[in-house]
Amino acid sequence: SVKEKGKAHYQFYRSDMQSTGINVITLESHLRKAIEREELELYFQPQVNLLTNEIPSFEALLRWNSADLGFISPAEFIPLAEDTGLIIPIGNWVIDRACWQIREWAKKAKKEVRIAVNISPKQFLQLDLVKTIHHAVEKHGIDPSLLEIEITEGVMQDTKEAIPILNRLKNLGIKIAVDDFGTGYSSLSYLKQFPIDVLKIDQSFIGDIKYNGKDAAIITTIIHLGKSLGMEVIAEGVEEQNQVEFLKDADCEKAQGFFFGKPLKVEEAEERFILRSKTSS
Ligand code: C2E
Ligand code: MG
Ligand code: MG
Ligand code: MG
Repeated sequence: SVKEKGKAHYQFYRSDMQSTGINVITLESHLRKAIEREELELYFQPQVNLLTNEIPSFEALLRWNSADLGFISPAEFIPLAEDTGLIIPIGNWVIDRACWQIREWAKKAKKEVRIAVNISPKQFLQLDLVKTIHHAVEKHGIDPSLLEIEITEGVMQDTKEAIPILNRLKNLGIKIAVDDFGTGYSSLSYLKQFPIDVLKIDQSFIGDIKYNGKDAAIITTIIHLGKSLGMEVIAEGVEEQNQVEFLKDADCEKAQGFFFGKPLKVEEAEERFILRSKTSS
């Protein structure tokens, strides 16, 4: 049960947080109030088209700046939110906020910018996800193809549950991306069973391109695979010029990473990438 799962993970959080002196109970009680206290914020990381240097899309990444505890990383609070079920209201807030932002940028910059949001496994399998997304798209009056959801390979293992959900989202016109591609346990057969639009090559493959021939081979293969299946391929965690060159040579369509820009506050993303049309590089 969820409760037992929470207990099983307790030790992990407790030991993990000794350094900061924050225990899991404290963290949970603060996270519970984070939405109403308006402590959550979406940051936006640019996704660059490697051919044109344009920024057609951003990934929305959640930030929590707690009034009492300070800045807490998503790597810490997302797993806790998953275990406690808080990921549902938090995830719903993220979806609503992203749709609002799409509409805002369409008005302000007269520009269609796609936003990708991360959907965690528990959130994906909740009963109301499709309704929630549909509602948010209608409420903000956005083109549904401007909203992308990122899921991981793990949630696709349960094909019986996942296929109908993804098909319903696809029918709404939402884009579907596989995050951290290449690190999960799923077989390749799901690439033909699921309506996937985008493959995001995990950043662990990108880091060592220069030194590791295996990583280079894997990246090249994923790019070919995605392309031949009609999917968009994007490389994550791009930090260096040599990685950009490698990806361009390998015909990778898009890239995302510190080389192009860190996740930014909305005003900064707007200033640097929305109100101008091209990157400075
Ligand atoms: P992710 O979706 O795979 O996001 C990519 C992570 O890599 C982000 O960390 C991003 O800041 C970081 N990153 C981007 N470019 C680079 C780079 O060039 N080098 C390096 N070293 N890192 C880079 P972040 O923002 O800390 O998020 C961590 C994870 O937390 C995300 O991994 C995602 O799984 C989860 N997460 C973040 N926001 C949300 C959310 O709104 N909902 C859910 N369910 N999960 C979220
Ligand atoms: Mg992601
Ligand atoms: Mg990722
Ligand atoms: Mg990740």
